[in-house]
Amino acid sequence: MPRILIVGGGFAGSDLARRLQKGLSRDWEICIYSAENHLVFTPLLPEVVGGAINPLHVVWPIREMAAGVTCRTAEVRKFDLEANEIEYVGPLGEVLKDQYDQLVLCCGLAVKLDIVPGMDEFGWPLKTLGDSFALRNHVVQQLERAEAEPDAERRAGLLSFAVVGGGFTGVEVAGALRDMVSESARLYSRFEAEDIQVTILEGAPRILGPLAERLAAYAHRQLEKAGVTIRVGVQVQSVSSQGVVFADGEELKARTVIASVGNEPQGLLANTPLKSERGRLVVDGEMRVSGQENVYAIGDCAAVPNASDDSISPTLAQFAVQQSKRLAKNLIAESRGKEAQPFSYKTRGMFAALGHGKAVGSPYGFRVTGWVAYLFWRGIYWSKMPSFSRKVQIAGDWISGLFFRRDVVEISTMRTPRGSLQPARPPAEEKPHP
Ligand SMILES: Cc1cc2nc3c(=O)[nH]c(=O)nc-3n(C[C@H](O)[C@H](O)[C@H](O)COP(=O)(O)OP(=O)(O)OC[C@H]3O[C@@H](n4cnc5c(N)ncnc54)[C@H](O)[C@@H]3O)c2cc1C
Repeated sequence: MPRILIVGGGFAGSDLARRLQKGLSRDWEICIYSAENHLVFTPLLPEVVGGAINPLHVVWPIREMAAGVTCRTAEVRKFDLEANEIEYVGPLGEVLKDQYDQLVLCCGLAVKLDIVPGMDEFGWPLKTLGDSFALRNHVVQQLERAEAEPDAERRAGLLSFAVVGGGFTGVEVAGALRDMVSESARLYSRFEAEDIQVTILEGAPRILGPLAERLAAYAHRQLEKAGVTIRVGVQVQSVSSQGVVFADGEELKARTVIASVGNEPQGLLANTPLKSERGRLVVDGEMRVSGQENVYAIGDCAAVPNASDDSISPTLAQFAVQQSKRLAKNLIAESRGKEAQPFSYKTRGMFAALGHGKAVGSPYGFRVTGWVAYLFWRGIYWSKMPSFSRKVQIAGDWISGLFFRRDVVEISTMRTPRGSLQPARPPAEEKPHP
């Protein structure tokens, strides 16, 4: 049986697997390998950090989304383009092989933290479900530590959160975080909402570079009104456990530094002979990898030309999904002896949430702000959720947010000690990351 093997179960890979399973003849086997067993709906991760939605509601099992597809949760380490073979890590850590007739690479991009010295060790990335969950827990821990800290200066450091990068993710996470800490401050006696600092640090002259200037200016004003400090035109030179140091030597005390900048190719693609451009695989309009007959690449990992405006597709979920839609049609068409079509897509616009009840966006070229944009933002993402059950659960989270305050429960990962050598609790001043 001929096989299509997909590497990566994110927006592009899961959607492609689902579409091929529905549309391709049963003579084909579709197999997807992904490092995690679920798709992460990344646009909602900032809301997980802000405690507005349940972490489990932003992920879906790939095997449920793409029922009928062979799903393997394993990391692909290598591929052999001559032998049409991949190597993956088996359950015991051993190297196993699998064959393909067509290979589709959808492994996204990895986070690159070492673009700033110290960020790798002390920064908090936001890419996976684990990142959002750990960061939300850490924020609650910082509030608890601040309550227990008698020294005002040390307390100020604990209550200071810096977000490096004023793009969509940075702005959204700062807005969500501000909402959460402001709402929770009433439960603590040693500090008030005004004592908590959330600062966005952006190197460019303004935040939200891809949005129109007027929308970005509105976002800037609204975030400042909500209590977020925004510093533009600043270069972060290093990060430490105490905060950040700027290029001019100035320091900002912040015991939590969130990294929303920096991408690099996944390890799998780092040492391949395949041609890449700015860290993304070079593909033709039909998304075939340059120089390869039976290898395709879509999503963030590929520089896919967009025939609608002759540009290279940005690294956005809406493009990853549209590319999977086109590639599925092409592969189905080719299996029936028909011609493939190039990828062509006109964006429907972009949105940035600024915390509860406020957003900015440009749907279909219109500029919208405030509640209207917020409802648009929620409506669009809600409609994109791949299962009815998740739609109901997310709607439930959002409705309950209108009536109830956010939880400050630290979801403890502490387990019952076994034997006398186990410490009851990790030390309070350990490094921010395990
Ligand atoms: C916090 C955040 C917010 C965002 N908000 C938006 C937004 O509002 N709108 C928007 O359009 N885009 C948004 N994005 C961008 C969007 O998430 C990406 O463009 C999208 O995820 C790209 O899809 P993909 O399938 O190419 O890659 P991914 O979704 O990253 O999926 C890659 C998959 O490959 C797997 N993988 C990687 N390497 C291997 C390997 N060696 N072996 C096996 N599996 C592997 C990974 O586990 C993952 O499942 C956001 C991103 C982040 C981080």
